[in-house]
Amino acid sequence: MTETFDLAVIGAGSSGCVVASELVRAGRKVALVEAGPDYGRFSRRWPRDVRDPRRRTDRHDWGLEAELTRGETTAEPRARVIGGCSAHNECAAVWPPREDIDAWRVSGWSSAELWPLVDRVEGARGGSAIRGRHGPLVTAPWTDGPLTAWQSAFVDAAVASGYDRLDDVSSPAPATGVAPFHANVRDGVRWNAAFAFLDPVRGRKELSIFAGTEALKLEMRSGRVDALLCRRGRKQLRILADAYVLCAGVYGSPLLLLRSGLHWRAVGRGLQDHPGVALTFDRAPGAPRELGSPNVYRSQVVLRASSGASLLGWDLHVLPYQADGELLVFVFFMAPSSRGVVDLRDGRPRIRFRFFAGEGAVDLDALEAGVGIAREIAGRLSFVRVVDPSSSVRARSIRRWIRENVTGYAHATGTCRIGTGPEGVVDARTQVRGLANVHVVDASIIPRIPRANTNLLCMLIGMRAAQLVGS
Ligand SMILES: Cc1cc2nc3c(=O)[nH]c(=O)nc-3n(C[C@H](O)[C@H](O)[C@H](O)COP(=O)(O)OP(=O)(O)OC[C@H]3O[C@@H](n4cnc5c(N)ncnc54)[C@H](O)[C@@H]3O)c2cc1C
Repeated sequence: MTETFDLAVIGAGSSGCVVASELVRAGRKVALVEAGPDYGRFSRRWPRDVRDPRRRTDRHDWGLEAELTRGETTAEPRARVIGGCSAHNECAAVWPPREDIDAWRVSGWSSAELWPLVDRVEGARGGSAIRGRHGPLVTAPWTDGPLTAWQSAFVDAAVASGYDRLDDVSSPAPATGVAPFHANVRDGVRWNAAFAFLDPVRGRKELSIFAGTEALKLEMRSGRVDALLCRRGRKQLRILADAYVLCAGVYGSPLLLLRSGLHWRAVGRGLQDHPGVALTFDRAPGAPRELGSPNVYRSQVVLRASSGASLLGWDLHVLPYQADGELLVFVFFMAPSSRGVVDLRDGRPRIRFRFFAGEGAVDLDALEAGVGIAREIAGRLSFVRVVDPSSSVRARSIRRWIRENVTGYAHATGTCRIGTGPEGVVDARTQVRGLANVHVVDASIIPRIPRANTNLLCMLIGMRAAQLVGS
């Protein structure tokens, strides 16, 4: 291929769709490279597993695995389709607390600088003043009508336990309370980043979409990248651009840097997710039939609670979850200290979260308190009974039970951190240190995981970075 683009954007997920769209609007000639398929503008032709927010998809997944603690390995879902993880996630639309962003202390990335862009990402109905009103990503709160029986029973039990009802889970105050999530669901469709940001610029001559095209390697010479080597089916192709923007996600972006020979210590280090555990329940006689149904919304409400283990006003998400006929209450610690790593072994990604290792030992205190809160609320749910082994675990061994049953919240971040210290992989303009024409723009640059679900933040990162990359 001899055509040269202004920019090659690699990965069409939550961040990549925003970056590509903004750069095209600015008149730049963009190649958008995505390993997964593209089904075009939104239409009912899109497969049901990515359209229906009640479903998860195996067909559009990378099939990764991650080690959570030493020896405990599990599937780590990551979408492989235009729209990225926004095309298979739970659609919880949550903004991080502004003080969590300010704690990053990165020039140009304070909450005061980022927040004006919220209005260019989100077009919210209802909720607090913190939400955007004019952006293309439509969000609305789950209200009492469509809440499933499991979700509304949890809200009632949390209120009966003394928690306030919050008007919005993104409101700064009061610190604790229970609220329905805002969700990016539109007419029953999981409204992913491709529908919101890419559809309006599809068809523009500045945009070329290379779907089903996996980026393999950046070809470098004298501190610059000359070309992107890709595989499409059995064929290899080279894409040439003046600059390359890696939006391949928290695993894809560091792996591409590593495969291209950038083996510095910081690349792939700093991986974080919110660690959690689940209490599992069985239906008691007289329970609503819907509690056994596989085809319901999995997650619609959340309780913000305080473990008392940190100095923060709240640090836990406690949420009811219903999947494939299973009833759960998850407890996640939202301000974890543990950090892990992603690297290459025999050419394959090796993901290790190292929950509770090193400084992360304090995260166990918070989860222990959280399990107590979840049990107290669950005790008020009349039509179910706790069946998981934690209920028979004595206080003495609860920490071991948490270690052995820990899970992630699917909010992985931090593998190519933004910052000027030795841990920084990209500078405040998102440029990879020492590589003149390569940027990373996605969940991997988040230097410290905030107390929030990460989809909206990744879109906001895309919006901010487009200003920096495009200028
Ligand atoms: C199961 C699940 C549920 C979640 N639920 C929620 C939720 O309810 N609310 C919320 O806020 N957050 C949620 N999240 C997290 C959120 O969706 C992610 O943090 C966010 O989408 C990440 O955006 P990103 O741009 O960093 O990467 P992604 O959206 O993952 O995009 C990366 C893209 O790059 C492509 N790619 C990767 N490598 C290559 C390569 N070598 N060549 C070409 N293309 C490549 C991928 O196929 C993908 O399309 C969930 C995540 C998961 C996995």
